[in-house]
Amino acid sequence: MDVLDYQALLDYIAEGVQPHFGKGKVANYIPALTGVPATKFGMAVQLASGESFSVGDAEEAFSVQSISKLFVLELAMSHFGDMVWTRVGKEPSGDRFNSMIKLEMEHGVPRNPFINPGALATLDLLMGLKGDTKHRIRNFLRFLAMNDAVDADEAVMQSELTHSNLNRAMAHLMKSYKNIDQDVDTLLETYCFQCSMTMTCKDLALAGLPLATGGYSALHDATILSVAQAKRINAVMLTCGMYDSVGSFAYRVGVPAKSGVGGGILAVIPGKMSVAVWSPELDQFGNSYVGTAALEMFTSMTHTSIF
Ligand code: GLN
Repeated sequence: MDVLDYQALLDYIAEGVQPHFGKGKVANYIPALTGVPATKFGMAVQLASGESFSVGDAEEAFSVQSISKLFVLELAMSHFGDMVWTRVGKEPSGDRFNSMIKLEMEHGVPRNPFINPGALATLDLLMGLKGDTKHRIRNFLRFLAMNDAVDADEAVMQSELTHSNLNRAMAHLMKSYKNIDQDVDTLLETYCFQCSMTMTCKDLALAGLPLATGGYSALHDATILSVAQAKRINAVMLTCGMYDSVGSFAYRVGVPAKSGVGGGILAVIPGKMSVAVWSPELDQFGNSYVGTAALEMFTSMTHTSIF
């Protein structure tokens, strides 16, 4: 098979991942996510040249969850630059995405912007800007995805909000260390809003493209990030984007990526393309089981691991 025939490659991968279904578990700690069929699978590729390809359920919107942390980081970096790094670190945590074990030891400064406390601190910074932060986030995602249908899922948002004791505890702990400025209730509501955004694989692949193209996207006809910012965000994705399985993900897939407990993974192949995959069954680390396998096949067959 010609590996540059992306459509044939995606069709091949959709077939090839079949044995991996049934090994993970759909997220259940946010009740509204439990009903998502485990058999869903979609994948989309957005090339820097503008061409795009997809397979399976790539046009079905799903809950992006922690993938939203990437876009909120982009917004925060574009408005505040390196000041972001006074509020969060850029080191892998080695703990679960919702762990607060190191938070007290590190005086309320989370290890990175992709674990929950780090995302809360990043969002808190963004909320310091004038204007409605929810609108800012939604508009940014609509712009990146070139799709005005991108929106929050009210049921998922409420479901997470009523089950957010752990995230709330982290926010209070950080506030006691003066690393949260906003009112904790408002921060939590805005955080649940960002996590409940629904996007398709096609939306996500398009939204990830500026990270693959040095911050400027010809498709969007816009500079979304500086070259340095795109480079840095890719580095933080590579080292922190897949939580405490970031090492094995680098080993298997080898590109910057960000996952969410809705089963999505957005991967960036610098200089070339962005790839989004969705399959709701998660591994023990909260990353899509089948999605990781699909990306492993993709980078292996296209020789695009950065290693
Ligand atoms: N909204 C989820 C949470 O805060 C996001 C977690 C994730 O996708 N890893 O727990």
